[in-house]
Amino acid sequence: MEWTSVTDLREKYLSFFESKGHLRLPSFSLVPHGDKSLLLINAGMAPLKKYFTGEEEPPRHRVTTCQKCMRMLDIDSVGITARHGTFFEMLGNFSFGDYFKNEAIPWAWEFLTDVLKMPADLLYPSVYEKDDEAFDIWNKVIGIPAERITRLGKEDNFWEHGSGPCGPCSEIYFDRGEKYGCGKPDCRPGCDCDRFMEVWNNVFTQFNGDGKGNYTELAKKNIDTGMGLERLACVMQGVDNMFEIDSIRKILDHVVALSGKKYGEEHKNDVSIRVITDHIRGTVFLISDGVLPSNEGRGYVLRRLMRRAVSHGKRLGIDGPFLTALCDTVIDENKAGYPELGEKRDYIKKIISLEEERFNSTIDAGLSKLGDVIDETLKAGGTAVSGAEAFKLYDTFGFPLDMTREIAAGRGLSVDEEEFASLMKAQKERARAARGNISGWSSETLSALDNIPKTVFEGYTGTSSEAKVLAILVDGEEAGSVSEGDCTLILDKTPFYGEMGGQVGDSGAIAGEKCSLTVEDTKIRDGVVLHVCTLDDGTVSVGDVVTAAIDADRRAAIKRNHSACHLLQAALRRVLGDHVEQAGSYVDENRVRFDFTHFEGMKESEIRQVENLVNEEILRGLGVETEECSVEEAEKKGAMALFGEKYGSVVRVVEMGDFSMELCGGTHVDNTSKIGLFKILSESSVAAGVRRIEGTTGLGVLRMIDERDGLIADCAKALKAQNPHDVAVRAAGLQEELSAAKKTVEQLNAKLAGGRVDSLLASAKTVGAVRLIAEDLGDMGMDAARSLGDAIRDRGDDVVAVFAIHSGDKLNFTAVCGKDAVAAGAHAGNLLREVSAVTGGRGGGRPDSATSGGRDITKIGDALSAAEDVLKSMLK
Ligand code: ATP
Ligand code: MG
Repeated sequence: MEWTSVTDLREKYLSFFESKGHLRLPSFSLVPHGDKSLLLINAGMAPLKKYFTGEEEPPRHRVTTCQKCMRMLDIDSVGITARHGTFFEMLGNFSFGDYFKNEAIPWAWEFLTDVLKMPADLLYPSVYEKDDEAFDIWNKVIGIPAERITRLGKEDNFWEHGSGPCGPCSEIYFDRGEKYGCGKPDCRPGCDCDRFMEVWNNVFTQFNGDGKGNYTELAKKNIDTGMGLERLACVMQGVDNMFEIDSIRKILDHVVALSGKKYGEEHKNDVSIRVITDHIRGTVFLISDGVLPSNEGRGYVLRRLMRRAVSHGKRLGIDGPFLTALCDTVIDENKAGYPELGEKRDYIKKIISLEEERFNSTIDAGLSKLGDVIDETLKAGGTAVSGAEAFKLYDTFGFPLDMTREIAAGRGLSVDEEEFASLMKAQKERARAARGNISGWSSETLSALDNIPKTVFEGYTGTSSEAKVLAILVDGEEAGSVSEGDCTLILDKTPFYGEMGGQVGDSGAIAGEKCSLTVEDTKIRDGVVLHVCTLDDGTVSVGDVVTAAIDADRRAAIKRNHSACHLLQAALRRVLGDHVEQAGSYVDENRVRFDFTHFEGMKESEIRQVENLVNEEILRGLGVETEECSVEEAEKKGAMALFGEKYGSVVRVVEMGDFSMELCGGTHVDNTSKIGLFKILSESSVAAGVRRIEGTTGLGVLRMIDERDGLIADCAKALKAQNPHDVAVRAAGLQEELSAAKKTVEQLNAKLAGGRVDSLLASAKTVGAVRLIAEDLGDMGMDAARSLGDAIRDRGDDVVAVFAIHSGDKLNFTAVCGKDAVAAGAHAGNLLREVSAVTGGRGGGRPDSATSGGRDITKIGDALSAAEDVLKSMLK
């Protein structure tokens, strides 16, 4: 058995199975595609499920992959056992109704013993206790003695998931020797300790189970195998655990370096070091596959990994953020196999640093709070941290429950998780109630709506409907009829779109034989459309037949903005990359507002590129097709849907040519050319990692142009330009005139200053052997002040002059010393340094002449009076 690198092992495996007729496929994303039953891919077979069930035809009936996997179920073993990571790579060879046990077992053996030259006597197969077929292949075909083949029960060696295809497994264990053993007399393959390390698992999908223990043979049998790449490397490289293999060791070493601890000295520290090593790997790969930290679903998995890593960092005494630094090492160590990591480096780092910064700012406070809570609990003789405290930590410090649980356990306490769960539930209910609240309506009223049938929406095709009034609400109470004021109508059908999915509600009119109403706004709750009205005339009663007509011009403008919003999203993904996900949107008749995930402000050139792209697609006049279909069909087509969003079993797919496809219930133009034109008005930040674009379309663009024209006309008028095109030339001309005029003023000031020489000399005060002039010259200008200084010095060799010059809040000083004054010890530069310091400024210069800057103009008087003392201290 020869030391082999992870890269070589991966390649050897995949090419071995290629030589056995398998098609090599690249790793699928960690985010499952079209499989709502799974949060993250956890095995090589997971992304291939549809080939196993026969739902889809595979590209070949033999496939081999190296698949990125995440197993959060193993998180508590990470760092403690030698063989568990939350993130790992799984090698696999798969047969979809093609070969079966007779090939799978000998090939596995051939690969391990022939290709990798593993010593046969250290390998131990296991089979399902009732699978004599597999037992015989190991025993008779391969020649493994019966006593070295372990028969394991259903729990270990029968793969089953509810009803459906299932079957026995056969694992292969490697004996790492007694030093890794638990020492128990019954230690054997299948034991939880790290001596017999399970490296490979072959699943023989042989039966169809009905979920009640009855099995029938499948006509088409499958092979699904999984071998942990890191575990294999661990064995081949003879290292203690999977974090010490060549591809991970550098990351571990980097953690060690950051911690300042020694690896292998103290068990507790080693565990933390391995946990961080594991979690930063998972973090980097998840972000690269488009997951962003959040409080739900995959986003929470990511957040949990990062927060757990940070908390282990704290235990090691690492101060401040460190995950971003580790990220580079993870990328460098893996980019050969996963080039997308290198390409997304900046993005990944940005997301990590934002999350880490955010968490770091609260974790210390949280940790010390938790410390206090634990102290108090122990003092009071308690055995558990209360659910209320744990919830408070979660709610205010973002402390995940499992972190509280771990830290509490470290000091011998449990956590009242039942109470925690009930508080969490209550909070979720509060949030739901707040969302469902329509202003001023009690939840009782809203639940009264439960008995009203869903409104038939006719507004995708029409702008008016004949309808019957099903219910009337006034101030949240049901009413039979209304003769004045505001009310809310519910009809059996309507063309009014209730505000939903970021599209504003319609406005318009409802009229019957005996009534006319203005519809101010439209809402929707559980499929019931609520027309928020003002009664203009007559009486409206339940049972009335009315005509409901939307404001069609307003709706047309809303449609243009909504359709542009879809084009915008597609354009952003093309220009900025696939990490762009919708984070919120709002469209009304005036504008489009679209929030999306992106880690930095867009460059001016990117904004132009996006705007151009959208307009090109508008001008191409793409047909807009809408189709109702099942979620599965929509996903098959590749429609963009946000994970975790709630869709009914029937969804609406909106397609704009080949450019955009989204799930959307909103109303749209039937051809992109009807959008007219799209203009981006602004690009800004809404939250860390989330940007916002606001834009407008159609007549909105015209309005914007009108506004700008108005602005230019106003400028032209103010600048007295005959023609708006002359505005720039006029403005430049005025600038020139202004600076010429300023120069003249300064020259005049200088002349005036000349006239002041005599009066200033007359005001000079004798200080020792010299005469001092200290004067505030106001806004005279620096040049004029300097020439005034020169003129004074020419008239008296024993004179020292200090001037303050200021305009607005800008302040300067200048000083001169005649040559006799210099000889007597005066120094203009040193003098000014101290004088300007009085105002908070600084500066200096030569003995005979200097200038400096000042700051606080209210201190000019103090500064000038300080000049005398400073000068005195200089004189010999
Ligand atoms: P164990 O009992 O050791 O946790 P398992 O039975 O969960 O393993 P399988 O579900 O059969 O493992 O997965 C197939 C292969 O994937 C395993 O043989 C092993 O090599 C690898 N593997 C499973 N879980 C992990 C993990 N958490 N970290 C690294 N490799 C793993
Ligand atoms: Mg396991």
